[in-house]
Amino acid sequence: MTLDVAWVDRWVRRTAAVVAEHRVELIELDRQIGDGDHGENLHRGFTAVVGRLDELTEPPAQIGDVLKLVATTLMSTVGGAAGPLYGTAYLRAAKVTGLPELDAPAVVAMIEAGLEGIVARGKATTGEKTMVDAWSPAAAAAQTAAAGGATALEVLEAAANAAEAGAVATDPMVATKGRASYLGERSAGHRDPGAASSALVLRAAVTAATDPVVPAAP
Ligand code: ADP
Ligand code: MG
Repeated sequence: MTLDVAWVDRWVRRTAAVVAEHRVELIELDRQIGDGDHGENLHRGFTAVVGRLDELTEPPAQIGDVLKLVATTLMSTVGGAAGPLYGTAYLRAAKVTGLPELDAPAVVAMIEAGLEGIVARGKATTGEKTMVDAWSPAAAAAQTAAAGGATALEVLEAAANAAEAGAVATDPMVATKGRASYLGERSAGHRDPGAASSALVLRAAVTAATDPVVPAAP
């Protein structure tokens, strides 16, 4: 299946469905080391995104158009840290996806741009127990896979696998950015909610490429 505008539409709709499915889990994670709103924040945001996609009178022409719609919707509907962080990630990603269909280098560029957006906005580096700890290994794995001759889908899979491992790797970390940093050492022993949701987002990109079914609105 090609990574075209129909794919990005499925990716976004699948993300909304997966976030709805994991809403309570993300709330629980954020309750341990934050204020318990991460699942609700993202659920509200992606539900609004699907609503806006459904309202379009003409289907989006470009992959970047869809990603830009996600960015502006998340920025205006998701409060807290995650809205601007994810919003900036999608906005940066939108700028590098001017092709009708993503090839392996374009997938790398998209994920790297997403990471750069998060870092530009949140000023976190790896090891600070944030979503950067999912996106940074994802970008590195994507780059390695593409350099080794992987297809666009294989690059996406490598990124999702690395994001999942990256989210798990936040468990023992002590948070030094975001709300969880207020807990200091007590933040260790819990998974970062933003890293967990980032892994869900990147896995949804893979599923959208391998499963033609468009999930129903959450
Ligand atoms: P809030 O913390 O305002 O309640 P959310 O609960 O929606 O917002 O999102 C929390 C997540 O945001 C954290 O789990 C972490 O992954 C991410 N985060 C917070 N601050 C930063 C930062 N400075 N850089 C990168 N990610 C961050
Ligand atoms: Mg929160």
